[in-house]
Amino acid sequence: MRQVAFYGKGGIGKSTTQQNTAAALASMGYRLMVVGCDPKADCTRLLLRGVRQPSVLDTLRDFGPDNVQLERVVVQGYGGIKCVESGGPEPGVGCGGRGVITAIQTLEALGAYKDNLDYVFYDVLGDVVCGGFAMPIREGYAEEIYIVCSGEYMALFAANNICKGIKKFAERGYARLGGLICNSRLVENEQALVEEFARRLNTKMIHFIPRSKDVQRAEINKKTVIDYDPNLPQAQEYRELARKIDENDEFTIPTPITQEELEDLMREYGIVD
Ligand code: ADP
Ligand code: MG
Repeated sequence: MRQVAFYGKGGIGKSTTQQNTAAALASMGYRLMVVGCDPKADCTRLLLRGVRQPSVLDTLRDFGPDNVQLERVVVQGYGGIKCVESGGPEPGVGCGGRGVITAIQTLEALGAYKDNLDYVFYDVLGDVVCGGFAMPIREGYAEEIYIVCSGEYMALFAANNICKGIKKFAERGYARLGGLICNSRLVENEQALVEEFARRLNTKMIHFIPRSKDVQRAEINKKTVIDYDPNLPQAQEYRELARKIDENDEFTIPTPITQEELEDLMREYGIVD
């Protein structure tokens, strides 16, 4: 069983990329579980075709810790993918990261990991690896991490911060970085910039996902692109990413760069008028 975490700045396309990759792997015959680690609880929406499932935290609140059954919090989605949402506290009440810790501990206690699984995906909120959001990599669950980014400064800034967190936990022997996934925002020189950024971080850009209106078309229909129309070029991109992840055997401890180096890199590759 490979446990894989997707990190990246909010809104960068983690959940879209993660769900399409999961759907692609499922269509290749793999058995997967996706654990959404975002208080928004929208990490499995496309796999479940818009059906909202009860989150682990909501279920614990409603039924009490002794009455939570696996079937209540694990719902099957596209391709038999087991879908879980950790959930979170009401906005402004308590720490969102706590939900992740509780959810994973509950799944563990209920034996969710004992099922025959080839992959577990964690879709984790945020640009910093802190508190509960570090849980999947801190406690030795996810051993493999992919950072979703684009060529925009804030996305790279977040990716660099995430690398600082990974490096810290890697020293204790757990998680390794499998690469950067560039989810294009149509930035000038984007692919070359992200490839060079990855090289400096001691990793690689594992795939460049083009920006495509078909992603939104599929989303409006509450589906992944793979589910909506597997013949679209964008579906092929996600299958390609899935294949590269499946075949990846280069995992590294990242070497985060300084803010000055990042700014210089942006200037070097940025638009020169
Ligand atoms: P995150 O999980 O990182 O917060 P989402 O996956 O929810 O981000 O994506 C945010 C928005 O960006 C969604 O509306 C999604 O449809 C859109 N999006 C993501 N990837 C692409 C892409 N490659 N092309 C076009 N739109 C995209
Ligand atoms: Mg998300």
